[in-house]
Amino acid sequence: MTARIIDGKAIAADLRAAVAAETHRLISAHGLVPGLAVVLIGDNPASKTYVASKSRAITEVGMRPLDHYLPASSSETELLGLIQKLNADPAVHGILVQLPLPLQIDPAHILASIKPEKDVDGFHPLNAGRLATGLPALVPCTPVACIKLIKTVHDSLVGLDTLMIGRSHIVGNPLSQALLNENATVTVAHTFTRHLPELCRCAELMCVAIGCAEFIRGDWIKPGATVIDVGINRVSRGGKSRIVGDVNFAEAVKVAGAITPVPGGVGPMTIVCLLVNTLRAACMQAGLPPPAV
Ligand code: NAD
Repeated sequence: MTARIIDGKAIAADLRAAVAAETHRLISAHGLVPGLAVVLIGDNPASKTYVASKSRAITEVGMRPLDHYLPASSSETELLGLIQKLNADPAVHGILVQLPLPLQIDPAHILASIKPEKDVDGFHPLNAGRLATGLPALVPCTPVACIKLIKTVHDSLVGLDTLMIGRSHIVGNPLSQALLNENATVTVAHTFTRHLPELCRCAELMCVAIGCAEFIRGDWIKPGATVIDVGINRVSRGGKSRIVGDVNFAEAVKVAGAITPVPGGVGPMTIVCLLVNTLRAACMQAGLPPPAV
């Protein structure tokens, strides 16, 4: 048996087209151009690349990119001042502060200072609390991406035996909440979990976000299960560098029913889900119904 490959690139391209269509509808029907402010502090090369690709994606769908660059020496007060301005600016519907921040700035202070209705990363405690209590919320982009990918395989997640491996605030924790909100039966595993292979073997759906290259082995996977691999790990073998997931893909593809590849699975969907969140935030702020994406 060979698993169906969940083609994140193709699914992301379809979603991007739907977001572009919805953006053009908002502009022509309401004169509303969704604006996303991306704030980068310092010149971390990886962060610069992420910010550039986010700006490109925003422009491509017809939204307005509003990038802000601050020097690495900026103080917390300076950054809070910029966020206050962006919170008050009606042309800005979404605010994203690229992490990690320089050591002199406390990310918790910064994330809590973003207006919850402009918090397109979904990291504000109010949005986290709304998600945890099943209320409408801006949900972090990677969990949104995972749910959309899962739904290309499963029409309904109701009662599905699901194992979430990882409990970070960015992926594992909000994804387990989002899965619960879909009425899946969710077990959460983390660094201190015992008997992980046995837990894996019971899961009809497994989502993995741990940051350990090819950690999940093929013989841990229940035959026919759906596997969502969030991991992005750079490994060097034989002098060549490449990106692999948290799941041993070559083994897993022989056992699973459906699986996301790395690269080309969750990654391409995550950035499009940032656009979805920006669209949602813009509609919310304009008092319009949520977008149909
Ligand atoms: P993190 O380090 O913040 O959290 C890792 C979590 O995994 C922790 O909760 C930890 O308890 C758990 N964990 C670690 N090792 C474990 C083990 N051996 N067994 C069980 N649990 C274990 O990481 P993160 O920010 O959640 O990211 C996880 C991975 O996902 C990374 O590879 C990251 O690069 C990737 N990521 C991908 C995307 C995407 O768009 N595809 C987005 C965000 C993160």
